[in-house]
Formats: sequence, structure tokens, C-alpha cells
Amino acid sequence: MTPAGLSATRARRADQEKPGKFICGICGGDFTRRSNLDAHTRSHLGVRPYSCTECNGKFGTRSVLNRHKRALHPDRA
Ligand SMILES: [Zn+2]
Ligand SMILES: [Zn+2]
Repeated sequence: MTPAGLSATRARRADQEKPGKFICGICGGDFTRRSNLDAHTRSHLGVRPYSCTECNGKFGTRSVLNRHKRALHPDRA
């Protein structure tokens, strides 16, 4: 027996116990904010609650919608 195995186990556990993390139950991605995780989870489910008022395009997050508006409807932004 060597202490190498023990220290490896301890390092792995410390890595799993990072505080303030929100983990995606689908892909395991980690997020520092609950809202970011929620938006990310919606992207897995194909839910797109934000719709463009100019072209009826549908988007998963407000930031993606805003980016779309600036790109495709710059005169409306
Ligand atoms: Zn995910
Ligand atoms: Zn649009």
C-alpha cells in the first residue's frame, strides 16, 4: 500500500464539493447561476419561450433573442 491512492481519492472528492454550482441533470454542465442553468436546460428540451415580434422567430433565451433582433432587424432595435 502507498499513500498515493488515498490522496487521489481526496482530491476527487474536493472537486465534487465545489460550492455554488448548479449542475445540468442532462449533460452535467455546471453553471454559477440558477438562471443560467434554467436557460441551458430549456435549450435541451427545445423550449423557446421568447418570440421575435418582427418575424415570429422563437428563441430559448432573451439574450439570444436580442442578438437576433440586432442582427436581423437593426432598424427595430
Ligand atoms: Zn445540459
Ligand atoms: Zn426576427
